[in-house]
Amino acid sequence: MNKSFYRENAKKAIADDKLQAAIDLIQDRLGKGILNLWKEKPEMDELRNRVKAAKNKNLKNLDILLAQLADSVEARGGHVFFAETAEEARLYTIELAKRRHVKLVVKGKSMLSAEIKIDQALVDAGIEHWETDLGEYLVQLDEDIPSHIIAPAVHMNREHIGDLLAKRIGMPLSYDPPTLTLAARKALRRKFLKADMGITGCNIAIAETGQVSLVSNEGNIRMAGTMPPIHVALMGMERIVANMQEHKDMLQLLTLGAAMQKISTYVSFNGGPVAEGCPDGPQEFHLIIIDNGRSKILADETFSEILNCIRCGACLNVCPVYGKIGGHSYNRATCSGPIGAVIEPLLNGINAQADLCKGETLCGACLKACPVKNDIPRMLLALREKLAYGDEKWAVEQQNPLEELAFRGVGAAMVSPGLWHTGEKVVRAIMKKKPHQNNMVTAMSGPGRAWTEDRDLPPIAEKSFARLWKEKLENRPLPAEKKEGSSAKDEGEEK
Ligand code: SF4
Repeated sequence: MNKSFYRENAKKAIADDKLQAAIDLIQDRLGKGILNLWKEKPEMDELRNRVKAAKNKNLKNLDILLAQLADSVEARGGHVFFAETAEEARLYTIELAKRRHVKLVVKGKSMLSAEIKIDQALVDAGIEHWETDLGEYLVQLDEDIPSHIIAPAVHMNREHIGDLLAKRIGMPLSYDPPTLTLAARKALRRKFLKADMGITGCNIAIAETGQVSLVSNEGNIRMAGTMPPIHVALMGMERIVANMQEHKDMLQLLTLGAAMQKISTYVSFNGGPVAEGCPDGPQEFHLIIIDNGRSKILADETFSEILNCIRCGACLNVCPVYGKIGGHSYNRATCSGPIGAVIEPLLNGINAQADLCKGETLCGACLKACPVKNDIPRMLLALREKLAYGDEKWAVEQQNPLEELAFRGVGAAMVSPGLWHTGEKVVRAIMKKKPHQNNMVTAMSGPGRAWTEDRDLPPIAEKSFARLWKEKLENRPLPAEKKEGSSAKDEGEEK
């Protein structure tokens, strides 16, 4: 993905009024909502701190917890597979599907399934697959990708959806949301009834009980995990808690952060084949615990905090950059917004995803909104530092050696007044020669060009602050000479 992709798509998104209106709506409702909630209910801080502490503790004991989880799932009759890479996870799933002669897969919404590119693997294996979350279903029908963690089709308006469903599932043209939803639901019901395998993600895994909990508002994930005879759950290795108490706390933050809900409509606990006497459930349950670069993040204390993320999407809903450029501009990565700007470079290469971490404003809104207080601005700065100086451990090539040289020059000038004033004169002279409008410089060239591409630049003042100060001191009237016999009171009055 080249550098211009981010910029070009950001420009298009900014000019797209419909997209701007759609993002405004979600940011207004959910973004402002979560910030107000934390402000109005300071007592929630205790819960946030408790979850963060539990997450930190669990990351430190991840090997033990994952082993416990695997034992617990197996004790329930489920299968566990540890996949070091995305490829291993894909292979396991596809081989299992082939062994069981799977022809149709229904999927529950899962960011991890997009990360490991399971859809393409299913297509390559000749297996039909359908997303069952309404937003994801629309995105699939449109051969598009999601543009928000919890609202994947936020970029589509009802007219777009009406046209799409009329074209792709043959329903009579309608722009009425309930009619559209009902039509999609009917089409998906048929898929659920015929599916041989369900693939879901995992919101939270509970080591103690050997279950994964799955959260949805549409009930589709519950059906994807119980109706087909095989359920495959994809789990990022960090998505684990030790016990039910920790689960309760985290679930509360997840649903609040995601949609300002005290609890989502459906919370399902899956962890093995259907129990005896139970009417619903799969005959086989497979949990694939996926690393895919997470161990490397965990081993780096600068970035390990990002593994506390519960993928609630709250940071997207308050981010001024996401609010303008939308999700697709983030190099069409799995995660967009502030969380994407950190996790995508770490998982897919810091140089390759440099625009993502450089595009954010560091305003700190994401840190305020994040239920687990992930310090995203700090991590963005750390990524930028790696780009500025290069980093062997993360195989980062220094992005622009001239930039380092320039800043070293500025640093040297700042401690040498003579050098600073000479530099000031040179830059002032250059700026004077550039095109002006309303006393603003409208176009710089060379390395300064980017500064005036989208806005005008104020010229350097004719006189620096140091010069003005010096002149002020030089022109200051001398204090009147002290008259003999004047009292301290007189002096005070003069002042
Ligand atoms: S970084 Fe925080 S706010 Fe953003 S998705 Fe993760 S948990 Fe939610």
